[in-house]
Amino acid sequence: MDKKELLARVKEDHVRFISCQFTDVIGVVKSVDVPVARLGVALEEGVWFDGSSVEGFARIQESDMRLVIDPATYALLPWSPTDARRARVFCDIYTPDGTPFGGDPRGVLKRMLQKSQARGWTYNVGPEPEFFLFRHNEGERVHPVPYDIGGYFDFSSDDEAVRVRTELMDALSGMGLEVEVAHHEAALGQHEIDFRFADALRTADNVLTLKYTVKAIAARHGLVASFMPKPVFGINGSGMHCHQSFLDEKGKNLFFDAKDEYHLSPLAYSFIAGQLAHARALAALVAPTVNSYKRLVPGYEAPVYISWAQINRSALIRIPRYTEGCDEGARAELRFPDPSCNPYLAFAGMLAAALDGIDRKMTPPKPLNNINIYELDEAQRAKLGIASLPGSLAEALRELEGDLVLQAALGESAYEAFRRAKWEEWDESRIAVADWEVERYLEAA
Ligand code: GLU
Ligand code: MG
Repeated sequence: MDKKELLARVKEDHVRFISCQFTDVIGVVKSVDVPVARLGVALEEGVWFDGSSVEGFARIQESDMRLVIDPATYALLPWSPTDARRARVFCDIYTPDGTPFGGDPRGVLKRMLQKSQARGWTYNVGPEPEFFLFRHNEGERVHPVPYDIGGYFDFSSDDEAVRVRTELMDALSGMGLEVEVAHHEAALGQHEIDFRFADALRTADNVLTLKYTVKAIAARHGLVASFMPKPVFGINGSGMHCHQSFLDEKGKNLFFDAKDEYHLSPLAYSFIAGQLAHARALAALVAPTVNSYKRLVPGYEAPVYISWAQINRSALIRIPRYTEGCDEGARAELRFPDPSCNPYLAFAGMLAAALDGIDRKMTPPKPLNNINIYELDEAQRAKLGIASLPGSLAEALRELEGDLVLQAALGESAYEAFRRAKWEEWDESRIAVADWEVERYLEAA
């Protein structure tokens, strides 16, 4: 869709307001609303806003920023009232001198994608975002409780969660996401909605769309939707596994090789090797919250160790089993990202790590099929050369500080802003007193 088509489309859809959206460095969606009568001007001149109060954006003395609308991202917000119809577009951020703003996460991913595009490759990502539906408890300290009583793939003909999920699938399809499956996940109150892979930029836009759509529709049912990686101790957390591949200009999957044992090409092997080599630093981008590291522990189908395998859910990268004739399905599933990440920065980092593996012709270690890595002790892991993911956000940040490839992928502005925001988050959590500590020490100490 171009500018002209967008102007025609908003008329057709009786849209009254356009939300011009972007994210801060953390991944929080920000929005500037434009009444539809001003859309023509906004498309020509951009939308000016004050960037100084946005996390990771400009310093006070250079706070003016310009949003440039990407008309291709138009989508009607299905929950907006018919008499005040609202649509959204995603925007790119520019500085007053007309150059792309270095701290714009969407711009970071676009710049990174140019590197694979220059080689004729499209970087595709298909994510599997998981989330919980909770209900508010009474009282001051709200401890949400899981909503339904289902388990993995459980069929329930008519509970509220199924009604929400059905409504969600409709809403997401209406917003241009091709929903492939939606199902109950393993944990109580946990769900997953998978949509079809697309190039990384479109997928990152889609992830944000999915998150706020799920939240908006859940809220209409009096429920709270949460993408927090580990909201409840003792049960599975929520991941966002990412299936990745490269297509060439003719749409051929470059990961596929009929002759290889795992049907993977040398390019795919170097891709995997690159992501494994950078995994400890990449963690800061794909699992970027304090809470992310409560998910990445043994026993809950989330990865903990740096390894790859064909049929092993404890591995960091899993190669889904090859189905005869499905050459286009060759892909690498990265299992440590979680939905608290900023998808633009996460995908930029994942691609940078993979390209480094390809440029340096890295080869991965042996796959760890049929081994439950959770059950190995430290000595056994050391013997097999299996390293662990960072155990905390602080550890991941320190790794990122030593990884020049990932720093270059973010660029100076985004990297510095991300680093600063995340250390602040860590420091806040470090001095907070958790419930666990009170329970453990209050009387015992
Ligand atoms: N919820 C699990 C995780 O945290 C994954 C379950 C699955 O394999 O889909 O990654
Ligand atoms: Mg899942």
